[in-house]
Amino acid sequence: MERTYIMVKPDGVRRGLTGEIINRIERKGFKIVAMKKMVISRETAETHYGEHKGKPFFDGLVNFITSGPVVAMVVEGPQAISEMRRLMGATRPWEAAPGTIRADFATTVDENIIHGSDGPESAAREIGIFFKPEEIIG
Ligand code: GDP
Ligand code: MG
Repeated sequence: MERTYIMVKPDGVRRGLTGEIINRIERKGFKIVAMKKMVISRETAETHYGEHKGKPFFDGLVNFITSGPVVAMVVEGPQAISEMRRLMGATRPWEAAPGTIRADFATTVDENIIHGSDGPESAAREIGIFFKPEEIIG
């Protein structure tokens, strides 16, 4: 059993796609063990996206992710980290396989609907940024 950090980004929330994304996660058979709607502070956004600090898109990314509410989740299931990445599709929506969330609902890399952890270390780190242990209900 694996846990991953999933976040409906501000564009997804704004466009009313939260339910669609929750539906896809649950239909797959994964369990949402924690969830909350929140506005991320600049400081939290910079920590969460720390690996991208110094890249040309970093400031835009932080501005965007703090621009409105997100829906943060912990998703649990077998191979949840890589399987959620597969359901999300490639970072650049035009490279995402048809039927994936990013292919179906996004057109640009800077507003690509959903975040998912890319490995076990980032999953543990990101879950710890956004959730207290007692908020995770297995
Ligand atoms: P992810 O793990 O698939 O979300 O992709 P990354 O961790 O590489 O990048 C984090 C987020 O930064 C992506 O989801 C995009 O929204 C954004 N991003 C990544 N690369 C670029 C880029 O080249 N240009 C812009 N504008 N945004 C990018
Ligand atoms: Mg990433």
